[in-house]
Amino acid sequence: MRALVRETTLEPGDLIYPLFICPGEGVRRPIGSMPGVFNLSVDEAVREAEEAASLGIGGLLLFGLPESKDEQGSGAWDENGIVQQGLRALRQSSATKKLVLIGDVCLCEYTSHGHCGVIVEGRDGFEVDNDPSLELLARTAVSQAKAGADVVAPSDMMDGRVAAIRRALDSAGCQQTPILSYASKFASAFYGPFREAADSAPQFGDRRAYQMDGANLREAMREIDLDIEEGADMILMKPAMPYLDVIRAARERVDVPIGAYQVSGEYSMLQAAFEKGWLDRNRTILESLMGIRRAGAGFIVTYFAKDAAKLLG
Ligand SMILES: [Zn+2]
Repeated sequence: MRALVRETTLEPGDLIYPLFICPGEGVRRPIGSMPGVFNLSVDEAVREAEEAASLGIGGLLLFGLPESKDEQGSGAWDENGIVQQGLRALRQSSATKKLVLIGDVCLCEYTSHGHCGVIVEGRDGFEVDNDPSLELLARTAVSQAKAGADVVAPSDMMDGRVAAIRRALDSAGCQQTPILSYASKFASAFYGPFREAADSAPQFGDRRAYQMDGANLREAMREIDLDIEEGADMILMKPAMPYLDVIRAARERVDVPIGAYQVSGEYSMLQAAFEKGWLDRNRTILESLMGIRRAGAGFIVTYFAKDAAKLLG
């Protein structure tokens, strides 16, 4: 009876599993603030992906930790960049055919300063220069699509990036590659542990100039409208738990598919409570994901993807 009248479903296929790919071979480096999450060399990432596929998980979101960083973040669009290598290896594995491969498009993991765009000296010190950043982001998206990404996901929050990426993909012959835009990405303390995982902490200042103020729901809706006008095929909301009302508002406003990212801080605080025995692990994982689905997210990016898929069986 419960199954018959259940309003919201949660299935392994609704889940996207993030992977952090790093140089080397046989590398499986634990991330201190995110128990159960690792930096993985390409061979290990393929193994992890095969397990994800066998659990019925919907897809992977790929982040890269380059060998070296520079001012421009050239590792992001390098044909032999770490994510591009990972994509090609994943494409070659028959086990991962069922997974949607999504490339995270940003520069902050690749720039020496850790910001999501090009840095210039402005009136009030250093600032991110929007327009030159667009070209580099577009180049990154094209190189990921060429390397085998099914979807590209710009997470930088520069103005005009979706249009720039769409133009670049189309003229590179990648008309079929959809854009999943992080349309409303709030400046959030909940990203903390991710910066250890992706080694992407800003070396000075913060990202509040280009990420959104958590107090502003209407502004989030405007950002979503703009991204869809520019050609976003799907949107991703981030973080999830502290912004469930924003997910709901977006779901009621637009018709494109909506995903939500249960970010590192949401994951880590639950893990900490599990370690202390303060919360029931299995029930809490599923409840946290069901809440995000109920708010209106069609799919969820989560570090719990494997755990949840096992529980959902
Ligand atoms: Zn970034």
